[in-house]
Order: sequence, then C-alpha cells, then structure tokens
Amino acid sequence: MSSRPASNDNTEPTTGFASLDLDPRLLAVLTALGYEEPTPIQRAAIPPLLAGRDVLAQAATGTGKTAAFALPLLHRLRIDAPPRERTTALVLVPTRELAMQVAEAVYRYGKAIGAVTVPIYGGASMESQIRSLKRGVDVIIATPGRALDHIRRKTVHLAGIRTVVLDEADEMLDMGFAEDLEAILAATPTEKQ
Ligand code: AMP
Repeated sequence: MSSRPASNDNTEPTTGFASLDLDPRLLAVLTALGYEEPTPIQRAAIPPLLAGRDVLAQAATGTGKTAAFALPLLHRLRIDAPPRERTTALVLVPTRELAMQVAEAVYRYGKAIGAVTVPIYGGASMESQIRSLKRGVDVIIATPGRALDHIRRKTVHLAGIRTVVLDEADEMLDMGFAEDLEAILAATPTEKQ
C-alpha cells in the first residue's frame, strides 16, 4: 500500500465553499473570483447566518468578513417583489469610504443573481440616491446619518428587511452613532436577523 499525504485522505471533511450550502450561482461567482476555500471567519459565520441566527463576529481587516455577511444575505433576496418590499438587507457602516468599498464587494458577489446594491452616504447628492432607491434595491449599504435622513423622508422602504448588518459596530459606537443606530433599528421589522 502506498502512503498518501493526509490532505488526500478521503475521510477528511469537505472544507470548500461547496459544503456551505450557498446558492449555486454564488458558488460559481466565488470560483470565478478564484476563492478556493472559505476563510476562518467565513467558515464560522456563514452556516449560522444561513440558518437565520443572529451572529456577533470579530475578525481583523482583510480576513474576508465582507463576504462572510454578504453571501448569506445574497442567498435569500426577494428580487421579484414590488419595489417597496424588495429591500431585504441593510448594511450600516461607519464611513463613506467603507460604504463604497462594501457596496462594491456586494455588487461583485451579487451581480450574477441580479442583486441591486445601492450605497447611501452623506456628502453625496440626495436626489441621485433617491432615484436609485426608487428603481428598486435589494441591499442598501449606508452610513447611519444618511440612512436616518432617508428614513425620515420616507425615501427608503424597510418593511421587507430580513437582515441588518452593523459592520465595524465598535467603530460606529466610538463615533457616537448609538442613538442613530437605535432609531434605524426601530424603523426596521421586529422579526429580522
Ligand atoms: P475583506 O476582509 O472582506 O475586506 O476581504 C479582504 C480581501 O480578501 C478581499 O479582497 C476579498 O476579495 C478577499 N477574499 C475574501 N474571501 C476570500 C476567500 N475565501 N478566498 C480568497 N480571497 C478572499
């Protein structure tokens, strides 16, 4: 009998993304992006998120946490719902830069399933954000102040929200956004992840 390296042992559990039960179109995107294995935060967070549980996660920058929360929320969009019920995910981030960066990543992961992602942040035209929101949006990536602005003007429709993500929550609290976050969470359905 020849000896084989342990990594080829067929008793080893499947470790790739395929074992995570994601929409096959998302798996195809990950393959196209060259992602071979989930990172530790992805491996730990994706299964409970897909199961609908609330998750509190801590991981250093650059360890793949954006995909860890983005893939599960992209897995269950409501793309065919009427515009007012279509938005299923709200991602809150502390800064405009992070809003752009996260929106870009969510767009990249979600375009194969037709996901519409809109970043809304302060310092940019309210009018053009309103136009984008009116066309129908699946995932909103927002800074807290601008999110509240849109909520008060009723230019975002949060009745269909299933998931709220607080990205860099510690940073948002350090920046004094606690009250804004409370107000935003209160404007979303009680039953949510
Ligand atoms: P993030 O921490 O979410 O900003 O991700 C950091 C970088 O890692 C980004 O450029 C991602 O495209 C990349 N990335 C995320 N997950 C994986 C993965 N499983 N395999 C390879 N690269 C990844």
